[in-house]
Amino acid sequence: MTKLTRRHLLGGAASGVLLAGGDALAARHGVPHVSSTHFKKTGLHGGQAPAVLRGAPPPKPIIMLDPGHGGKDPGAIGVSGTYEKHIAVATATELRNLLMASGQYNVVLSRKDDRFIPLAGRVELAHRHKADLFISMHADALHQPDVRGASVYTLSGNASDRQTAMLAETENSADRFAGPGMAGVPPDVEAILDSLVREETRRGSAHMAASVIRSFQNRIQLLHHPSRHAAFRVLKSGDIPSILVEMGFMSNHLDEQALRRATHRAQITQAMKQAIDSYFLRQRKGML
Ligand SMILES: [Zn+2]
Repeated sequence: MTKLTRRHLLGGAASGVLLAGGDALAARHGVPHVSSTHFKKTGLHGGQAPAVLRGAPPPKPIIMLDPGHGGKDPGAIGVSGTYEKHIAVATATELRNLLMASGQYNVVLSRKDDRFIPLAGRVELAHRHKADLFISMHADALHQPDVRGASVYTLSGNASDRQTAMLAETENSADRFAGPGMAGVPPDVEAILDSLVREETRRGSAHMAASVIRSFQNRIQLLHHPSRHAAFRVLKSGDIPSILVEMGFMSNHLDEQALRRATHRAQITQAMKQAIDSYFLRQRKGML
């Protein structure tokens, strides 16, 4: 049984994929520059908004994609030896490319390579980049090898079911891979983690989860009751709508095989993009 490397998963194209870390920040809240000369020339002191501002496109939403695990934390290991961490970063990279190609979004990856990031570090990154949406991407393992299909998770103190409670427990234990020097997180991050997640954020997360489920229906096999919730530590951003997507389960042979195929991952990323489009469209229309 050979273990898949990231290069295998990306079909050897990994080196050609551009992964921006900080490029999204620059464009954030980019208000067009209007010089005082412009105001004088156009005589717009009388209360009418300058045309350049009226016609200015709204700032692009910033999306943080968070491939689960990485580095010394492999995540789940599939029945054929596939590492969850490689599936996660391959799919997130492909989704990033799709979203960036649309010109509608700025996308930041929490990790672009095979490195370990503590859970609080992922939340902190989302805040630092002023993300409008946070999507953690996984393909974990369950104790039941016959269970398969995609599912979407939001934050809640009470788990929706026992399976999800166990999943959250496994996910939350990822920090056990942190070395002694990395175990501590800055106090401000702890404050964020401990703060109550705002109601508005909860609503946004629920809408995004529903949007992904709608988009996956009839295209991607879904888990029974695919919309679930539990106390996932990585979803504890106080003011950023956050979801965790399980694209399938490494514990299921069929899911594992499917996730190794670029064509299947393309179906997932296209469905995810549609869900993201629908979420921001509803937000622009004031429907969220
Ligand atoms: Zn995971």
